[in-house]
Amino acid sequence: MTSESEKKVVVIGGGPAGLTAAYQLARHNLAPVVLEQNDKVGGIACTENYKGYHFDMGGHRFFTKAEDVKRLWDEILGDDFLRRPRLSRIFYRGRFFYYPLKIINALFGLGIGQAILIILSYVKWQIFPYKQEITFEHWVTNRFGKRLFEIFFKTYTEKVWGIPCSELRAEWAAQRIKDLSLKSALISVFVKPRDAITSLIEEFDYPRLGPGMLWNRVKERIERDGGAVHLNSPVTKIHRTGSRIDYVVASGNGDGETIVRGTDFISSMPVSEFIKKLEPVPAPVLDAANKLAYRDFLIVCLIVNKPNLFPDNWIYIHSPNVRVGRIQNFKNWSQDMVPDVTKTSLGLEYFCTEGDDIWSTPDHELVEQARKELEQIGLAHSSDVVDGCVFRVPKAYPVYDSSYRDCLRVIQEFLGGLENFQTIGRNGLHRYNNQDHSMITGMLAVRNVVFGEKNDLWAVNSDLRYQEEIHSDEKEPEDKKFADTITRVFPKLDPVSFGLSAGITGSLGIFIATLFMLINGNETLSSYAGLLSQFLPGFSVSWRGVLLGMLDMFIFGFAFGSMAAYCRNLIVYASARVIHQDIELQLLQRLFDFD
Ligand SMILES: Cc1cc2nc3c(=O)[nH]c(=O)nc-3n(C[C@H](O)[C@H](O)[C@H](O)COP(=O)(O)OP(=O)(O)OC[C@H]3O[C@@H](n4cnc5c(N)ncnc54)[C@H](O)[C@@H]3O)c2cc1C
Repeated sequence: MTSESEKKVVVIGGGPAGLTAAYQLARHNLAPVVLEQNDKVGGIACTENYKGYHFDMGGHRFFTKAEDVKRLWDEILGDDFLRRPRLSRIFYRGRFFYYPLKIINALFGLGIGQAILIILSYVKWQIFPYKQEITFEHWVTNRFGKRLFEIFFKTYTEKVWGIPCSELRAEWAAQRIKDLSLKSALISVFVKPRDAITSLIEEFDYPRLGPGMLWNRVKERIERDGGAVHLNSPVTKIHRTGSRIDYVVASGNGDGETIVRGTDFISSMPVSEFIKKLEPVPAPVLDAANKLAYRDFLIVCLIVNKPNLFPDNWIYIHSPNVRVGRIQNFKNWSQDMVPDVTKTSLGLEYFCTEGDDIWSTPDHELVEQARKELEQIGLAHSSDVVDGCVFRVPKAYPVYDSSYRDCLRVIQEFLGGLENFQTIGRNGLHRYNNQDHSMITGMLAVRNVVFGEKNDLWAVNSDLRYQEEIHSDEKEPEDKKFADTITRVFPKLDPVSFGLSAGITGSLGIFIATLFMLINGNETLSSYAGLLSQFLPGFSVSWRGVLLGMLDMFIFGFAFGSMAAYCRNLIVYASARVIHQDIELQLLQRLFDFD
């Protein structure tokens, strides 16, 4: 075994995962070598600069439950880490809708006719749901009805993923909203809505000059602590002997190819690319790697000659008549992203696939298209757009299609056999994650190298806890857990027992009251009591009358008690259903964040 001082760790990729790993290694005096293919660090979370305007590739909210990650962000950014309010709305057919969607706002906003159709469609799908929820379309329709699905889910989801919702797996939605544990659901409703569900946060942190500011500083720290970060150095080959990686080949800056040897290798490059560049590699593993799919996106950045355009950080564009999917307003993320206070800078996001028509459109045409769509939507006049540029982000999203799990299993099993190699991060693990997840996998990989720990990086879930998600199918459905807890908190009242107790209590009451009057012999009281006979047929202040009164009272009490219990059960059921539906709808919109 190599001693710590003899370790030479090579890190592939200078995005959040790779840089976090290198930062930790440098702090352990292990002088890591980072190989990054781009001309800047940050990966998908880099910040581009055009004429002094800073452009975030998608808008990166900083939010985490992981203390180690938060500490690192605070440590590096200090006062440059801003707390920002969040506003994002959905734009559909000329109107804005709250995000997360609020049913009442949506129904009113769409007009009475649509609202009725949405409700009828909801009722229909509650009564006749799809028997099996195989696709995303089935999944959403069963919960919210076909019409709401078509208005608020179909167009946007298809813009983002480029495939019909009828081909997107239901598990993708289920996984994204699996936070719907009873605990978070109840807390979100009754206690602290903000803390419970991460997608609903109304504030987030943000580096003053975008996420690239963080990653540039991390790069400086790595270099200060003895590490090296080589930009423009794509890894083109990885050589293996048996179960060990010997070296990688990086090509760089016209210097030809460089062989970089190491004792340990940590990679955050897309795992499919890693396999394709690895030699030798078994055919089934290569085949699995070839089947992993990605979705890409490009951002058209426009500089608009207006100091303020709209208050949102970003707007989701659901309208099917334009191709733009989301619009970022960078000034609302941080004023310092825009060097000229009289201007606003926007990022129009187009989701696409490398090589398709959008991806291949020349930049000047894309700027023209974005300018026109901005006017079409009504957010600005095209004549107010004074400049623009385009940035392309390949492999922005790992796709969860029908074959990805099986392919990933094959790859995971093979890579598990390599003793000096670990794959980390979003595309390294083919995980649709946020920066903090990537960072945690980087930190754990370093612990495995430095302390010989056996952290399983594939098992870090989106909550940054270990969980065998691949085997999570057997888990109790969240809906059932929710229903069980509601039932525990508000136990069902049995109408028969409740009716019996009300009936018995009533008849005992009338018996005791009549007995009192008979013994007391008070005439006035008895004449008032006699009025009761109008409600209780046969009742009188007499021994015979009291028996009939008790019988009447029992019947009334029973009817009233059982009806009350029934109504109360119905109210609890209906409220629980509405609460559950609302939470599920809000959680489902986590899908729109498309982080
Ligand atoms: C539109 C969008 C919005 C997002 N919003 C948020 C958000 O609000 N909050 C949040 O926390 N996260 C957000 N994310 C997710 C976040 O960007 C990722 O989780 C994070 O960037 C992943 O970091 P990573 O290091 O794992 O991967 P990457 O960022 O992909 O980094 C991998 C690096 O490896 C390099 N590389 C690839 N191949 C090679 C090679 N052959 N040789 C050398 N280097 C190579 C790449 O150039 C890249 O720099 C968003 C993502 C997108 C697409």
